[in-house]
Amino acid sequence: MSIKTISASKDFILLKDRITDFSEQVKKLSNIDFNQCYHCQSCSGGCPFSHIMDYLPNRVIRLIQFGQKEKALKCSSIWICVGCDTCAIQCPNAVDISSVMKALCRIAIEEGYLSEPDIYDFHKEVLNSINRYGRTHKLEIMMRYKLRKRDWFGDMGVGTKMLLKRKLEFFPSRVDNMEEIKQLFEENRI
Ligand code: SF4
Ligand code: SF4
Repeated sequence: MSIKTISASKDFILLKDRITDFSEQVKKLSNIDFNQCYHCQSCSGGCPFSHIMDYLPNRVIRLIQFGQKEKALKCSSIWICVGCDTCAIQCPNAVDISSVMKALCRIAIEEGYLSEPDIYDFHKEVLNSINRYGRTHKLEIMMRYKLRKRDWFGDMGVGTKMLLKRKLEFFPSRVDNMEEIKQLFEENRI
């Protein structure tokens, strides 16, 4: 994962890069009125992952407001956001940033701006696991992800510790109603 914090002084917003309908595109997909945001930065202060994001959560909102499509879609923050909603709880205007981030990820995938392919691959393995079993089988997700990356020993220490603490099940278990899971995937065209 390539994470680079962008200093405020280098973070110029150039009006010539402005894509006028970008803000509307994100609003339509996320169903969130992010123009309520007045940049008090409570969200960024409370986000548990802001220290590894290249743009703080409220700055991602600002990129959208200023139509900076390429910067918003290429930033790592949209992939690092885990959707914990800490920001929305703290926001005085209840701006649901995680839905905005998800909408940006979707546009980034559709329009070929994938800046964090490793995170994207990991998400795919999680979804594949849910599709197979109706729930996640973490050991298999990790092994398939490692196979995809051809990186067998990178997290060996952590994996062994998790196995010893019985945080990873050796064998997967399926939910009873797999039909419902299948339907969910079909309805959402996953
Ligand atoms: S907390 Fe809400 S209003 Fe404040 S900067 Fe974040 S999104 Fe904007
Ligand atoms: S939902 Fe995303 S942006 Fe908001 S606090 Fe959680 S990780 Fe940070």
